[in-house]
Amino acid sequence: MSRRIQVIGAHAADFVWRAGGAIAKTVERGGVAEVVALSYGERGESGELWKQPGQTVENVKRARHEEAQAACAELGASFRALDLGDYPLEIGAAELQAIAEVIREFAPDVLVTHTDTDPFNPDHPVAFRAVDRARSLAAGAGVQSAFATVKPPALYLFEPHQPELCNFTPTTFVDITSVFERKRAAMAHMKAQAYLQTYYAQRAEHRANHARRASGNAEVRYAEAFQRVIPQVVSEL
Ligand SMILES: [Zn+2]
Repeated sequence: MSRRIQVIGAHAADFVWRAGGAIAKTVERGGVAEVVALSYGERGESGELWKQPGQTVENVKRARHEEAQAACAELGASFRALDLGDYPLEIGAAELQAIAEVIREFAPDVLVTHTDTDPFNPDHPVAFRAVDRARSLAAGAGVQSAFATVKPPALYLFEPHQPELCNFTPTTFVDITSVFERKRAAMAHMKAQAYLQTYYAQRAEHRANHARRASGNAEVRYAEAFQRVIPQVVSEL
């Protein structure tokens, strides 16, 4: 059965470092993937672009949109940006409804976002709270509701930059070996944050080591780590 994965990040490039492999893997297996950026990270996460003299916010947004779209194309995902602003990302009632609508429209089987804590980033925990709340709004309470609802998606958190400081405990590893070159190609499009490409390639090798230990599968060369939030319902253990 083909799966639908939706990855919602605070900024335009968050998905590629943390879930690029999982996205490509879903697509490789016949599923559908959508990436949603709440903002472009135009002010706080576009370091290389702000080194250019005369740079403007509008120009940075345009460049970030093109980068994210090109990275998504490598992975086989579609990309949409809500352009809600960054540093700080502010979520009011209208923004919350817009995120819930995006979840209703795509109706994902799997929803992926940030952890609830990040001492070095003002927007990532805000994105977690917004996406978690929007997920509940979109899915309702499992009963008939006065508004359109979708089947409750599984919720996973992707790996933050400093996992020990962000309440992150990996519960799930995705073997991304077969799609790693696509992830590498997608990361290469994020020229505004070129300094992260080597780091996340190394991270995938470290997580593969952990995945090999957990599974006994010596074939895993690259992996991504996720934390599952919603309980899994299975017919047997
Ligand atoms: Zn970010």
